[in-house]
Amino acid sequence: MSKLDRKPRVTPDPPRDWTYAPAPESRDIVQLAERYGHFVGGQWLEAAETYETISPSSEEPLALVGLGTEQDVDAAVAAARDAFANGWSALPGSERAKYLFRIARILQERSRELAVLESLNGGKPIKESRDVDLPLAAAHFFYYAGWADKLEYAFPNRRPRPVGVVGQIIPWNFPLLMLAWKIAPALACGNTVVLKPSHTTPLTALLFCDVLRQADLPPGVVNIVTGYGSTGAALVKHKDVDKIAFTGSTEVGKWIQREVAGSGKRLTLELGGKAANIVFDDCALDQAVEGIVNGIYFNQGEVCCAGSRLFVQESIYEPLIAKLKRRLTTLRVGDPLDKNTDVGAINSREQLEKIQSLVQSGIDEGAEIYQPPCHLPEKGYWFAPTVFTNVAQSYRIAQEEIFGPVLSVLTFRTPEEAVEKANNTPYGLSAGVWTEKGSRILWMAQRLRAGVVWANTFNRFDPTSPFGGYKESGFGREGGRHGLEPYLRFDE
Ligand code: NAD
Ligand code: MN
Repeated sequence: MSKLDRKPRVTPDPPRDWTYAPAPESRDIVQLAERYGHFVGGQWLEAAETYETISPSSEEPLALVGLGTEQDVDAAVAAARDAFANGWSALPGSERAKYLFRIARILQERSRELAVLESLNGGKPIKESRDVDLPLAAAHFFYYAGWADKLEYAFPNRRPRPVGVVGQIIPWNFPLLMLAWKIAPALACGNTVVLKPSHTTPLTALLFCDVLRQADLPPGVVNIVTGYGSTGAALVKHKDVDKIAFTGSTEVGKWIQREVAGSGKRLTLELGGKAANIVFDDCALDQAVEGIVNGIYFNQGEVCCAGSRLFVQESIYEPLIAKLKRRLTTLRVGDPLDKNTDVGAINSREQLEKIQSLVQSGIDEGAEIYQPPCHLPEKGYWFAPTVFTNVAQSYRIAQEEIFGPVLSVLTFRTPEEAVEKANNTPYGLSAGVWTEKGSRILWMAQRLRAGVVWANTFNRFDPTSPFGGYKESGFGREGGRHGLEPYLRFDE
């Protein structure tokens, strides 16, 4: 009775070579055209010039995509103006909501197709495009569909009305999700849209045009013009655009802010970040390690709110780093379409070179680099998950946004010191706090200069929750009731 048969409690080291069988998601569900034009006034407008969009994991060409000219942008803005003036802005909110609900449902129905295409064109793991990007994109349309007929209740006694024609410019890290963040609130509020996707990831936006056709959205309410930065610049400069919504680099954001100054155009900017993920010694350590990994290796670290600066309380520095390094050895880097992949391809050669040069600066400045052993494919753009220890606050890897799977570890002793170091950045998009103490979470959240503060979690998104920056991370909020405001005017 008393002699229970106990097995020895030894936790084995994780095996170095986790040989999973390949589990590739089939590509057959995606039908690509050879060549795409611009989507203007509900029609495909032939592009005079095109460029080739590729798969960053194989460098394989996928399709030819239009290089939007000033004339193309002009045609798209004219179509959006026409749709705004002749129907859309006057529709009752409950009618606009029906279109948004329809788009949301079609995104769900076609989510596998869109997820495969997102991973193919952008390099992110299918696990993430399937379980994060697509569900969240649909959720955004559902959420703002719900607001469309309740704007007067959201802003009582303020007579909310649409702004007009909105120009929206989005980046390559969450192509379809950023499209949803932009388009859903704009349409819910009665605006019409011209959107320019990033040149490296235009394909899900172009497939989204087919979703709009299926949803029977009136022509011109959403127009999509593809191309490089110059196409975006033409949209920013266009005289008949009432508002610009931009997500991308701080550098381009600053240029746009200068450009629209004095024009009367409304502007929201969602720019870069260098988030602090702060771990106190009373936290649940294994949970924190998972949060750190999710914070910086999710989407290859190509996330504006990535937890790229880890602040560890000195007393737990050694055990935490040991656990973190061990966890890194289990991350699978490789084919984005394989369902077991944790870290996919870097989005472009340009981005890979940027990561490489910043990592080199970290080594040169004296930080200590750790990368788990992993085999990177020959073709395509790859970067191994990386941790830097021995990092000083002045190093470039602690100051600049890397936008890659690279973590810089720093330490602190007291909560005051953690706050001071965390806020020592030109950015302020997000932060994370790991502690079992509720009062400390609140104390920290009040002092961290960041738009979002996650407690005992990281990189969590929900359409009901506003997201946006302090300082050089930009201004304006997306998501939640706050996310309606930039798309409304309240004058008499
Ligand atoms: P970017 O700012 O150059 O591009 C973002 C979007 O803006 C793209 O659609 C681009 O075509 C467009 N654009 C570029 N120049 C423009 C201009 N003058 N006027 C109007 N639109 C213009 O970003 P990038 O070159 O793709 O990435 C560079 C860096 O930006 C990354 O390394 C990363 O640090 C940061 N970034 C941040 C985010 C974010 O979510 N905040 C997203 C992507 C990139
Ligand atoms: Mn750029």
